[in-house]
Amino acid sequence: MELRGVGAAPGVAIGPVWRLDSGAASEPLPDIRAAADRAAADLTALAVRVRAAGRPDDAAIFEAQALMALDPMLLETAEAKVAAAAAASVGGRARARHSADLLAAAVESSAREAADVLATLPDELLAARAADVRDVGGRIARVIAGRSIALPDRPSIALAEDLPPSVTAEIPEGLLLGIALERGSAVSHAAILARGLGIPAVVAVPELLAAAATAPDGLEVGLDGAAGRVLLAPTAIQHAELEAAAAELARAHEAAAALRNAPGQTADGHLVPLLANIGRPDDAERALAAGAEGVGLFRTEFLFVGRSDAPSEDEQAEAYAEVLRAFGSRPVVIRLLDIGGDKPVPYLHLEREDNPFLGVRGLRLGYRDRDLLVTQLRAIARSGAMAAATPWVMAPMVATVEDVELVHALAAQAVEDLDAHGVARAASLKIGIMVEVPSAALMAPELGRRVAFFSVGSNDLTQYVLAMDRTHPALATVADALHPAVLRAIRLTVDGARQAGIEVAVCGELGGDPLGAQVLVGLGVAELSMDAARIGAVRLALRARTLAELQELAARALACGTASEVRAVLEGG
Ligand code: PEP
Ligand code: MG
Repeated sequence: MELRGVGAAPGVAIGPVWRLDSGAASEPLPDIRAAADRAAADLTALAVRVRAAGRPDDAAIFEAQALMALDPMLLETAEAKVAAAAAASVGGRARARHSADLLAAAVESSAREAADVLATLPDELLAARAADVRDVGGRIARVIAGRSIALPDRPSIALAEDLPPSVTAEIPEGLLLGIALERGSAVSHAAILARGLGIPAVVAVPELLAAAATAPDGLEVGLDGAAGRVLLAPTAIQHAELEAAAAELARAHEAAAALRNAPGQTADGHLVPLLANIGRPDDAERALAAGAEGVGLFRTEFLFVGRSDAPSEDEQAEAYAEVLRAFGSRPVVIRLLDIGGDKPVPYLHLEREDNPFLGVRGLRLGYRDRDLLVTQLRAIARSGAMAAATPWVMAPMVATVEDVELVHALAAQAVEDLDAHGVARAASLKIGIMVEVPSAALMAPELGRRVAFFSVGSNDLTQYVLAMDRTHPALATVADALHPAVLRAIRLTVDGARQAGIEVAVCGELGGDPLGAQVLVGLGVAELSMDAARIGAVRLALRARTLAELQELAARALACGTASEVRAVLEGG
């Protein structure tokens, strides 16, 4: 039986199913606080282990989870539930000792409630953290009840509603061949871990568990992570298809590794620099190892979320300088804080939004709280001096000429402040904008005259052009960045940029998709920025065709009526 979901990590795997199940393993610990302490200690130990294994991103997840385990609000809610249950029990008398099951259930349901709140947040990254909170609740509950999860004992494919990230990381190397989830998203931690481990993951697969429940025990599962395919008990033909896809992937990996230090270019030598998207300074190393020619998008939100006060200017400057130093003379594009009214950043006192994606988010925060962005711009300018480099600055969610004027005014203020205090700064800042709102594509000539570069955020551009929420599970397969409407908006952007004499990059997911990269270069996009893991495949895809061939492909794609017609054109090439 074939099921389709969202391809969250590329790769092909075939193997027996492993289902998440927990059973009795040790003495119960019927004390919520003590169990939370033990869970936090286990998570910290896990973080240390994966950091030592060279996976700093994963380590950061478990460090954050160790803090969540000790979150007073979570523990107090659970204790209140226990007290309420005890008061309601025999004779209404509270009992000194509560059964481990009651305590475990209280912690799990408190964590689930907190996770449900997070899951409804329109911000995809924060919503994805819901799984982390549920994971922490489950872990504390298992310590209380003396249960543990039976890990796979042979190389297997995990099939679950949502796979707790810390459980994923505990599975010994080599025993996890792939992941298929009924829930989750491409930015959920299970997906991030899968990409880090280099195994395929398919997420948001409707009816996965119901379909698997009717299948026999010892079920064999096939996964094609790039295509988002899950095959339950694959037929001989499907087996052969998966094996062919795996062999092709292995060849591509080898070819990509051989070209690691070669520049991005088409078959006829037209250069297309391939840069990395990074989310924290630790990512720089992985990006350099993948042969990134710079950083096309440094998301700076990591400095601001999950804490109780704003990061200082010094802390920010050090983080930016670390990345600038790592990349030396190669460009590093630092994006201004891109958060909005939907995100719990308590110290910013953001108002609740009815339509957060259309509200005060991204650069729009700068109208309300100039100081927030001026401080960040001072930190960026200082980091340039610290690393002897010219930082590129990029503003997110720009919709109007006034928005661009705001960025320039904030940057001028930052420079003036530093000069007034004699603080060393970069001689200049290269200021550009993201094109991710349809009005920016329509106004590209006017906006282009006022900035140094454009970078298309195809993730948001797709959401706004098609009016499809990028986090909506029911729209995950139709909100397609290869829709001709999105391609036409990018074409308008390229045309406008040409009139203004600037270049266009793409830093949304589309640029990291080999077919997407081909059509973008054919449309006139000058450089691409993507997750480091995707650079190799994109480098190969571009080298497979000449610029003229890509231009002809792009012209045919632009003339299509649907996203599937575009795919057919690109796949048929
Ligand atoms: C985008 O919108 O395409 C983008 C790169 O920004 P983010 O995914 O961080 O919104
Ligand atoms: Mg965006």
